[in-house]
Amino acid sequence: MKYDYLIVGSGLFGSIFAYEANKRGKKCLVIDKRNHVGGNIYTEEVEGINVHKYGAHIFHTSNKEVWDYIQQFAEFNRYTNSPIAKYKDEIYNMPFNMNTFNKIWGVITPSEAKAKIEEQIKEAGITEPQNLEEQAISMVGKDIYEKLVKGYTGKQWGRPCTELPTFIIKRLPVRFTYDNNYFNDLYQGIPIGGYTQIIEKMLKGIDVRLNCDFFEYRQQLEEVSDKIVFTGMIDQYYDYKFGTLEYRSLNFETELLDIENYQGNAVVNYNEYEIPYTRIIEHKHFEYGTQEKTIITREYPAKWNKGDEPYYPLNDEKNNQLYSKYKALANKEKKIIFGGRLGMYKYFDMHNVIAEALKCVKEELK
Ligand code: FAD
Ligand code: UDP
Repeated sequence: MKYDYLIVGSGLFGSIFAYEANKRGKKCLVIDKRNHVGGNIYTEEVEGINVHKYGAHIFHTSNKEVWDYIQQFAEFNRYTNSPIAKYKDEIYNMPFNMNTFNKIWGVITPSEAKAKIEEQIKEAGITEPQNLEEQAISMVGKDIYEKLVKGYTGKQWGRPCTELPTFIIKRLPVRFTYDNNYFNDLYQGIPIGGYTQIIEKMLKGIDVRLNCDFFEYRQQLEEVSDKIVFTGMIDQYYDYKFGTLEYRSLNFETELLDIENYQGNAVVNYNEYEIPYTRIIEHKHFEYGTQEKTIITREYPAKWNKGDEPYYPLNDEKNNQLYSKYKALANKEKKIIFGGRLGMYKYFDMHNVIAEALKCVKEELK
């Protein structure tokens, strides 16, 4: 065996594991099927702008250990995410807060906003929300649900809100203050100079092989190391023997524009169902760029078929149950560790992935 660890996937999970193992004198080989490292946090510089190639990535956490950990690899700016939501010709602030309530109902005080929401929950007759529609109405009332949630969510997940789990929308804050910060976390920012440098620093001095799909070279790869850290799809690893887990995919359409400022904000959501994309990202605004040109990306949700990029695990009950069967197999493995968004089939943000990777390091590399 040439290596202690083969690490499948050079995303955040795989790269943290490789960095920590390497630091402890373990010999690692990292492979990735893409032609670059970094997984979905990869950024690429174009015209002096750091382009988030796989969708907007805003770092946020309340976990001090995670925040301190990531600071080793980059300096972060003070970016605070405050998306604009566009519904037909109307513009609203996100997440749901007093600015949103004022715009939709003309209410001024928190108690007026709360009364309006209470009234709409009562009208809808919801006591214990059973699906995303009921959850959203009980968070923000019917008017906001109709304009800002129904169309966006239907596009994003390819199903009506009545057929989606409540947890998806619980991610979003509802605030009775005039505060447009999308996240409740203590720490937030964008790494100055992009995310790719973080991964490059982690993988410095470690053998990396790109354009290398584990499943194409499985037999040989299984022989190169004592252990494997696998951050690809767990159902694919087991040859889909219990069935296929479902994912949601995306298509990105990126354009370089010969203007300085296209939309005045990094993230503008398009909330009506009839517009096929969910959001437009204007990358320069993540780092307060003053370049003469600008780059925008339209994000189109897409049905996932085998072979497409599995951007979002679909953590509903049916899929979670199927995942638990694969997890039971994984628990019995001596040689392989599953990690990350695809290996653990969880809708993880970056801070969750860092926490999970550090936990794994603690257990594995005592
Ligand atoms: P990944 O980044 O997916 O890395 C897995 C790697 O494994 C990939 O490089 C892949 O090519 C490789 N791989 C897979 N299968 C194989 C194989 N068979 N052989 C070889 N290589 C393989 N998080 C936030 O905190 N804030 C945000 O604002 C945010 N925005 C997001 C927006 C979008 C559109 C998406 C999709 C995600 C967003 N996230 C955000 C989540 C964030 O991207 C993830 O938490 C993080 O990237 C997961 O890291 P990972 O290592 O688990 O997986
Ligand atoms: N959402 C919505 N309207 C918006 C933004 C979000 O209805 O303008 C819902 C949608 O269902 C989405 C969920 O809230 O899937 C979580 O939003 P988030 O921005 O966290 O999604 P992600 O960054 O994971 O794509």
